[in-house]
Amino acid sequence: TSVKICWIGLGNMGLPMAAHLHTAGHDVVGVDLSADARDAAGAAGVRTADAAVTAAAGADAVVTMLPKGAHVRTALLESGALDAAGDNALVLDCSTISCAEAREIGAAVAATGRRFLDAPVSGGTAGAQNATLTFMVGGATADLGAARPLLEAMGTRIFHAGETGAGQSAKMVNNMMLAMNMQSTCEAAVLAERLGITPQTVIDIAGVSTGDSWALRNYYPVAGPVTSAPSNRDFTGGFSVALMRKDLGLALDAAAVHGVDTAATAEVARRLENLIADGRGSLDFSSLIHLVDGTAAA
Ligand code: NAD
Repeated sequence: TSVKICWIGLGNMGLPMAAHLHTAGHDVVGVDLSADARDAAGAAGVRTADAAVTAAAGADAVVTMLPKGAHVRTALLESGALDAAGDNALVLDCSTISCAEAREIGAAVAATGRRFLDAPVSGGTAGAQNATLTFMVGGATADLGAARPLLEAMGTRIFHAGETGAGQSAKMVNNMMLAMNMQSTCEAAVLAERLGITPQTVIDIAGVSTGDSWALRNYYPVAGPVTSAPSNRDFTGGFSVALMRKDLGLALDAAAVHGVDTAATAEVARRLENLIADGRGSLDFSSLIHLVDGTAAA
């Protein structure tokens, strides 16, 4: 059955995800502050509205795919979108935000009688484009049951991580590992190149050996072997340095609260910060390689 969906945030991830729901036959109205993002949505066949409160009027579901918790609060709660949505609307936040923020927003949604799930994703922009995302969901089992048809139009794996906020906790630890795997892949890639081994050789061997990782096989930071990797398009698109820095900040904050020594996470966060200071915050995070090969200012 067709669901009336208000989709807020039509960026690198949000637009392809919203487009899949549109293709699946749902009545999707998208919202984004950026005119370019709205134009891209129009070109992809996704209808847009100027304001979230308009798009949300009477919606069965409201989905947010925004950079940070503050944006979710503004676009969902302060804009009036939540109150405009249908009485029993399902609110899905697919952004990566802190588990504390997810619980706080979830409580605000529940206070209006509506349903909330934190449903952050993994799989990158390719996963969003190919509808092969992994969803990590926090919230009530029954609400996840209701959301499932929508999630299945955008992804292939759906995990119920636990109560509200648990999806974000799972996503956060995943991204810690991703960041460190990328840093290690960058260091290995530059050293391999200087030792005269081709990138393809590194991937062929390490990809089936103990050095294997998603970063190695999907996001190799040297142009050439992985056609879809951001390194093949001058590090544009993909998952930005600024967003990965944000995710590591969430992880470091949680680690501080729980007394966990996260030395490697802190080091990668520091490097991402250097890239941001060097004006490279909007490039894909595999551009960490530019600090390893010395082309960015350390
Ligand atoms: P993005 O910056 O490409 O897109 C965010 C969009 O939100 C932008 O178009 C921006 O204009 C819009 N926006 C911001 N505030 C708004 C508001 N108040 N109202 C309406 N629109 C608003 O980011 P992205 O790469 O699509 O990532 C979105 C979220 O998904 C982030 O939390 C990120 O950490 C997470 N994520 C990203 C990836 C990835 O590979 N890019 C993978 C997994 C998870």
